[in-house]
Amino acid sequence: MTPYLQIDHIDKAFTPGTLVLKGVSLTINKGEFVSIIGHSGCGKSTLLNIVAGLTKPTNGGVFLEGRQVDEPGPDRAVVFQNHSLLPWLTVYGNVKLAVDKVFGPTKSRAERHDWTMHHLQLVHMAHEHHKRPAEISGGMKQRVGIARALAMEPKVLLLDEPFGALDALTRAQLQDTVQEIAARLGNTVIMITHDVDEAVLLSDRIVMMTNGPNAMIGEVLDVSLPRPRDRLGMTDSSAYLSARTRVLRFLYERHRHPVAA
Ligand code: ADP
Ligand code: MG
Repeated sequence: MTPYLQIDHIDKAFTPGTLVLKGVSLTINKGEFVSIIGHSGCGKSTLLNIVAGLTKPTNGGVFLEGRQVDEPGPDRAVVFQNHSLLPWLTVYGNVKLAVDKVFGPTKSRAERHDWTMHHLQLVHMAHEHHKRPAEISGGMKQRVGIARALAMEPKVLLLDEPFGALDALTRAQLQDTVQEIAARLGNTVIMITHDVDEAVLLSDRIVMMTNGPNAMIGEVLDVSLPRPRDRLGMTDSSAYLSARTRVLRFLYERHRHPVAA
């Protein structure tokens, strides 16, 4: 069977002779939620940008349903940490713009409206549809960014520390929303994070990266906790604690950040 998403022997050098990423290979199944965790500067964003087609690998390639992808496309939507919504458009307008671009030829005007509202409802932002980015909180902006990405109906959703700039309570609310949506829509997701609890809460698998240069995948952990996962209930579960400990050990014992070491 052809793997759904295949990251195949990726090397990346920005300057000749120094590899940021070395020999990164990973296969992701349809509907899988995979987190990538590693210390700052190890190359997580570089890897995600290569999958998005925003950065070219030096060697190797990315294959989606067997087809090489080396340019950006609506089949891989990205949500960044500080998603810049267009300030002159409303919440509705920001999502609708992407919907029109992707579905202009195939959906009617009324269908595109309904599709936009449906995705705003998924992230609990339908009631704020008329507001502009300056009138909503940071968490709400990330919700809109996620709605915009989902509304493109991508094959793979790429999240680069999407909750990194939010306070802990807002972050928890957004994690719950993303968990609900992924369960409902069966999205295939790659999420970068440096938050161990977030990775365990949301992921089917956690990919742990070693420090750069020559960063590679050090370990991959299957998280087999039943879903839906309840953040409070989980804290007593031994499976949760052992997953969490394994990631913490990797990050803070075996692959400490060079500055912290
Ligand atoms: P992370 O997301 O894990 O914090 P990045 O992927 O952003 O790390 O960066 C990995 C390494 O690659 C860092 O050393 C960074 O300085 C370098 N790097 C990233 N983007 C570029 C670029 N466009 N040009 C040169 N070096 C870069
Ligand atoms: Mg990064």
